[in-house]
Amino acid sequence: MSGISKILIANRGEIALRVLRACKELGIATVAVHSTADADAMHVRLADESVCIGPPPSRESYLNIHQIVAACEITGADAVHPGYGFLSENAKFADILDAHGITFIGPTAEHIRLMGDKITAKQTAMELGIPVVPGSDGEVTEDNLMATAHRIGFPVLIKATAGGGGRGMKVAKTEEDLEEAFNTARTEAAAAFGNPAVYMEKYLGKPRHIEIQVLGDGEGNAIHLGERDCSLQRRHQKVWEEANSPALNVEQRMKIGQICADAMKKMKYRGAGTIEFLYENGEFYFIEMNTRLQVEHPITEAITGIDLVHEQIRIASGAGLSVTQDEVTFSGHAIECRINAEDPRTFVPSPGTITHFHAPGGLGVRVDSGAYQGYKIPPYYDSLIGKLIVHGRTRVECMMRLRRVLDEFVIDGIKTTLPLFQDLIANQDIANGDYDIHWLEDYLARTSA
Ligand code: ADP
Repeated sequence: MSGISKILIANRGEIALRVLRACKELGIATVAVHSTADADAMHVRLADESVCIGPPPSRESYLNIHQIVAACEITGADAVHPGYGFLSENAKFADILDAHGITFIGPTAEHIRLMGDKITAKQTAMELGIPVVPGSDGEVTEDNLMATAHRIGFPVLIKATAGGGGRGMKVAKTEEDLEEAFNTARTEAAAAFGNPAVYMEKYLGKPRHIEIQVLGDGEGNAIHLGERDCSLQRRHQKVWEEANSPALNVEQRMKIGQICADAMKKMKYRGAGTIEFLYENGEFYFIEMNTRLQVEHPITEAITGIDLVHEQIRIASGAGLSVTQDEVTFSGHAIECRINAEDPRTFVPSPGTITHFHAPGGLGVRVDSGAYQGYKIPPYYDSLIGKLIVHGRTRVECMMRLRRVLDEFVIDGIKTTLPLFQDLIANQDIANGDYDIHWLEDYLARTSA
């Protein structure tokens, strides 16, 4: 690919491996960076070169911009793929790479900043014609708290401006709860993000979480690749995702998709992005935009046949998109299960050594994981150790296949979330696609001893 000959992958785990595979297919050399805890990781073994960038804590390794830039200079990498998490939505990192003449595989620093602040993101979305959740005009303070809540109507949700991962978010059902929700959200936001600013939204009772995948070339050309339904969540963390959403028909999909693609054209968005909505009673409400590759991107790849990392690299190298909107077709149904090294009921992390690992195979099955037999999961990072993605011609076929595949998958030595998926696949609501963002937590509360 013109312009990019060596990519440094500034991440770890399954996503580092995912990016590495795309680079290999495109004939681009790879550099893995790793902490001392990840010296044995799969992506480090498979990369053309590797550089140790520091001790286990992320802030001293995977978040250490100086070390990563130094690793680029030492190895001569001309581009960086940030994966998701870590530095993927860090505008300063994008700026610094730019100053060093290294290509950041992602959007402009300006767009990362714009979408990183949730109030600005919401205002921008509104200006671009994207429907948003009714809420405050900007930040809420002690002074306008009560008046804003009354204008929106209870229940309301207080959310951190700098939010992420569901932190700094509190519901106030009535006037009496408001003060406390406001104070707790501010305290949490200050602790988690170093910024106590909060805003307010109408709290939607039974929405689904539906997000649209977009791709833009940075010159005003943009397309959408349909939606993903990520309503099955625990503590605002996605657990199971599907494409298409069981709740949308073709017209609804193409309508919201087109709104998003048009918005991306207007802002001249560059790279892959995801526009997240809550969906209730036939209406979409924008909540945020993620300016990076998402964990659940493979289900979109399964139903469109488009490799999103290839597209990201093409766009970053100036070659534009490989497809037009008319060429995008949606085929069948895909489900992703996030396999975490956690207790399947309490979700308490379960790091340790994998004594036996057998990944399933067969038609329509994809396992993205850096785990292997004998691999020791370090306790320092996110507990996601792999993703199981299953594709079928219909949702029913996909579910049948998933049931078979879950029986085949063996991971011993640690606890994983695999048993949870075996429970879910046997559940009638899941079979019917009849769930919202609260369903999983209600189910866990109902079925826990
Ligand atoms: P974060 O960046 O912290 O993940 P989001 O704005 O993306 O925050 O919201 C995360 C999750 O919180 C959503 O998927 C949804 O489950 C819930 N949520 C967010 N906003 C609302 C709202 N207005 N009403 C009800 N639930 C919400």
